Amino acid sequence: MGELATMFAPDRVAVVGATESEGSVGRAITSNLAADFDGEVVPVNPNADTVLGLQCYEDIGAVPGTVDVAVVVVPASIAVDVVESCGETGVENVVVITAGFSEAGSDGASRERRLREVADEYDLNVVGPNSLGIMSTEVGMNATFGPENAQPGPISFMSQSGAFVTAVLDWANDRDVGFKDIVSLGNKAVLDERHFVAEWGDDPGTDVILAYLEGIENGGQFIQTAREVTQDTPILMVKSGRTEAGASAAASHTGTMAGSERAYEAGLEQAGVLRVETVQELFDYAGILSGQPLPEADGVAIVTNAGGPGVMTTDAIGDSDLDLASFSNETIDSLTEALPAGANVYNPIDVIGDADVERFREAIEITLADPNVGAAIVMACPTATLTFDELAEATVELQAEYETPVAASLMGGDSTRAAQSILSEAGIPTYFDPARAVRSLDALREFREIQAREYAEPVEFDVDHERAREVLESAKRRDTNSLGVEAMDLLDAYGIPTPEGEIVDGETEAREAAERIDDGDGVVMKIVSPDILHKSDIGGVEVGVPAEEVADTYEDLVTRARNYQSDATILGVQIQEMLDLDAATETIVGMNRDPQFGPLVLFGLGGIFVEVLEDTTVKVAPVSEPEAASMVDEIESAPLLRGARGRDPVDEAGVVETIQRLSQLVTDFPAILELDINPLVATPDGVSAVDVRLTIDQEQL
Ligand code: ADP
Ligand code: MG
Repeated sequence: MGELATMFAPDRVAVVGATESEGSVGRAITSNLAADFDGEVVPVNPNADTVLGLQCYEDIGAVPGTVDVAVVVVPASIAVDVVESCGETGVENVVVITAGFSEAGSDGASRERRLREVADEYDLNVVGPNSLGIMSTEVGMNATFGPENAQPGPISFMSQSGAFVTAVLDWANDRDVGFKDIVSLGNKAVLDERHFVAEWGDDPGTDVILAYLEGIENGGQFIQTAREVTQDTPILMVKSGRTEAGASAAASHTGTMAGSERAYEAGLEQAGVLRVETVQELFDYAGILSGQPLPEADGVAIVTNAGGPGVMTTDAIGDSDLDLASFSNETIDSLTEALPAGANVYNPIDVIGDADVERFREAIEITLADPNVGAAIVMACPTATLTFDELAEATVELQAEYETPVAASLMGGDSTRAAQSILSEAGIPTYFDPARAVRSLDALREFREIQAREYAEPVEFDVDHERAREVLESAKRRDTNSLGVEAMDLLDAYGIPTPEGEIVDGETEAREAAERIDDGDGVVMKIVSPDILHKSDIGGVEVGVPAEEVADTYEDLVTRARNYQSDATILGVQIQEMLDLDAATETIVGMNRDPQFGPLVLFGLGGIFVEVLEDTTVKVAPVSEPEAASMVDEIESAPLLRGARGRDPVDEAGVVETIQRLSQLVTDFPAILELDINPLVATPDGVSAVDVRLTIDQEQL
């Protein structure tokens, strides 16, 4: 068990602010606790001798012996003082029900800061504030003010919304869904999702962790913790309430593309969290993950007494990442022998409408014995020759014997009730809609893949950190937050290939530089100005400029920049080696910072295509080698890089390495708020960053 073990298995719980006053939160919590708790409930209130028949103490310090958990229900004005006295008297776990903290204006926010300080000082585990409370069915503890207690079960559940806890309990109790622990996280001033994920990951009583979250406090750390936990215990999450990309919205096309919702999507995927959209999915998947083993193959067998629903199920499998199992010859032979003429012995197996339980049993058994079958769906419509109860019993027996995951789809109403309880007692989920059965089995498959993941450590490249710092420092000396191609050295210092180039000031210098750089195809000339973000938009890029036109082009570029913005700072003109783009693909490698997850690395099709096609993917940095490689896989245009239409494949390893080197750069320098290499030109012979743009925060240098 983890550090929060006593919070969920306490011997004594104090309620500070306990009262008998009708309709009060203090009364609700005291009576909820008194109802079922195996341990001792200790009311604390200076104005009462007893509360609901229990001896009451003046303050937490006056309570003799050890208190494992203090539930705080006092007014906001004194709540932090009460928490402090809990710390002074050696209470380790405090659940702050009291509201009026960061959710309630600036006074509340400063109160919450103080709460955090007190928790720090006394090393307190604090839930809340503004929490509905906590539950642990193992010890019968209901330390909430909700109307219902949870039934025991293998699911532990955290929720950022207290109201959602009560709604879920109401729903779950109707369906005999049970819980181990429940936490209403409240404002997460001290303990957040990461702490409970860690705790429940170590808890033998928790088979599945569920979370309803509106935000994640520290994305990077959450990913690390969740990765470890999901090697054993699945985490299912509903994440609602999209947060805005935050104040870091420095104007950048790609910046807006890598917004916060994408960060969650990427971060949760990297963390091994199964993200779900609805409450039904949350509990469907929790049910099957806690009740059934993981499939060893992706093939699903369908055994049905009705053709139509079998086809529906087949469609649902087509929509999922599962396959319709193809049976071995032996299986086909056995089925042909066992089933009457007219039955379908190919998947989906149709035992036809007059099947009794024995025919069903034989068909199920033959399919479960086939190693191509990773999971089975037993489905039936009501008929005169079969009772759902018998089918349920046969299914339970066979599932236990073969240890293959099974889901049932019993397509009826009241007549399925008894069968449903037979199945659910054995951990086999039943659904009316076979598509739900398929999606649930698909969640099992997905978790099997998560569990099998091997997370690699990010590669540490040998880089010139000092030189990179100097580039950023020089921008600070110029008092600018916006850098362009004058920052090419930053990339070079981190081993990202760049074309030969030089920034010049004046026509003569331009001619001399062009002479050195030109290898026969002319040179590329670009205006260099922190005020011009998209150079070619204002005619600030000329490619293939021959020697004799360099001087005139220099003039033209400066004039165009002045026309665009008369007081633009012009640092000069970059003379760059001309690359042959015939066999090249322009890609983008970029980064922006997410308020929750930190640096988010982006890869995609670049150049002018980046905004038109929006074919990009993101991951939370630092990215490992396999993660960088999968970013290339994830974009739609991956075939373009891999030699579509007879082209030569580009240097994919070079792309993957550039993603990792950029990831290292932006992880090393928090001062870099945004960075785009667009394009990173990828050719069969290598990659080259021909353009760079970044935004920095001088304060962080
Ligand atoms: P911006 O993005 O500010 O308009 P870039 O430096 O990205 O400016 O240049 C715009 C386009 O010009 C690139 O997408 C690429 O097609 C072309 N280009 C830029 N530099 C080179 C180069 N060194 N060799 C060949 N083509 C280039
Ligand atoms: Mg560009």
